Amino acid sequence: MSRPSEHYDVIVVGAGPAGCAAAAAVAQARPRLTVLVLDRADFPRDKPCGDGIAHEVDAELAGLGFDVPRVFAGTVPVAGLALRSPGGVRVHRRMRHPVHVVPRQVFDARLVHQVRERGIEVRRHPVRRVQVADGGVWLDAALHARVVIGADGAESVVRRSLAGSRPAAAPGRAPVALAIRGYAAEPAGLAALAGSQFITMTDRHWPAYAWSFPIGDGRANVGYGELLGPDPVSRADLLARMRALLPGLGEAEGLRAHRLPLSSGRPPIPDGPVLLAGDAQSMINPFTGEGIFYAVVSGALAGRAAARAVTEGGDAGSRYRQASRRRLGRHLAHTGALARLGGWTALTDAGLRAARDDQRAFDDLVRFGLADGLLTPRLLNRLRFSG
Ligand SMILES: Cc1cc2nc3c(=O)[nH]c(=O)nc-3n(C[C@H](O)[C@H](O)[C@H](O)COP(=O)(O)OP(=O)(O)OC[C@H]3O[C@@H](n4cnc5c(N)ncnc54)[C@H](O)[C@@H]3O)c2cc1C
Repeated sequence: MSRPSEHYDVIVVGAGPAGCAAAAAVAQARPRLTVLVLDRADFPRDKPCGDGIAHEVDAELAGLGFDVPRVFAGTVPVAGLALRSPGGVRVHRRMRHPVHVVPRQVFDARLVHQVRERGIEVRRHPVRRVQVADGGVWLDAALHARVVIGADGAESVVRRSLAGSRPAAAPGRAPVALAIRGYAAEPAGLAALAGSQFITMTDRHWPAYAWSFPIGDGRANVGYGELLGPDPVSRADLLARMRALLPGLGEAEGLRAHRLPLSSGRPPIPDGPVLLAGDAQSMINPFTGEGIFYAVVSGALAGRAAARAVTEGGDAGSRYRQASRRRLGRHLAHTGALARLGGWTALTDAGLRAARDDQRAFDDLVRFGLADGLLTPRLLNRLRFSG
């Protein structure tokens, strides 16, 4: 291969939450390393998402040196969460820590802005080809890096480029959900829950749910998603199912659908100089569809592993695998185990009864669904299969 026209220590592909966290982590761990971030889009850009950002994201971003008050400036925190289970169990409580609901057009652009403020170049460049060679990784035969972090989302080109040379999730074990979202006035039928996040699950097309997350100006991010099965699902199907579950929903704009690769089907992390983070590594919580927390955490772990591999030697993939296991292993084992029982709506009803009856069980359930929580004894002991 010809001489590289440009060489970096680490190149991050994708400037979403995973990519920004990865770039910040490299710069924080080893400020002298050269880092380049590539994204096919200019920012601000939209990303189909429910826009719900777990409270735990604040600490992760702060730990990476982001100015968190500036990231969330002018946004309205949401403390209430109303849930309805497939069997009709209802719970409406205050979350222990309010969450953020911030359109990704705003949130992601603010992260990118702060990455640039740290002197890291974020360049528009759609990556098409990835090759491991010459002691590192080539991108589009023009850019070369010792380590590449693929943080390029659910349809990751980095992952697909290397598909033949990497272990995949076991056949039939790569669950993916499909969801659509838009923006509308908070649904009239949910007036009693105004200002709270609302999630209503349904046993039709289970596992499936619709949501309405208020964005603080009278409007809400509204959407519907379900696990993909053997039957095709059209945009019209998704919209009809969303409308059936959100009473009094008016006209919605900005409707876009997107796939969600769930962590219950994530591929193993192999050795090597190409790391995947966020949706590219299938990190989304299989129960809630939340992925931003996992994108930030996995991006940070990948960035630190890359920085250490470049400066201290050793394999980046192996460092990343071990760090991921330490940081998220127990949580992923618990969500994975429960996901294998996921077809059982009675279990979800029982979990919501526990959350309805006990604030601390509710808090545990929220942390399990949005961040790194575990199936705690207090939650399990309170499961009731009727009532
Ligand atoms: C409808 C829906 C609702 C959701 N709701 C929530 C929610 O409320 N809360 C939550 O936490 N999670 C939610 N998620 C999941 C969440 O959106 C993702 O987990 C999260 O965006 C993952 O971040 P990421 O950085 O890994 O990827 P992304 O945010 O997808 O960022 C990837 C970046 O890579 C860039 N890119 C892609 N291909 C290339 C290429 N070839 N070259 C260069 N750049 C490239 C893209 O332009 C993009 O900027 C939802 C998902 C969907 C689909």
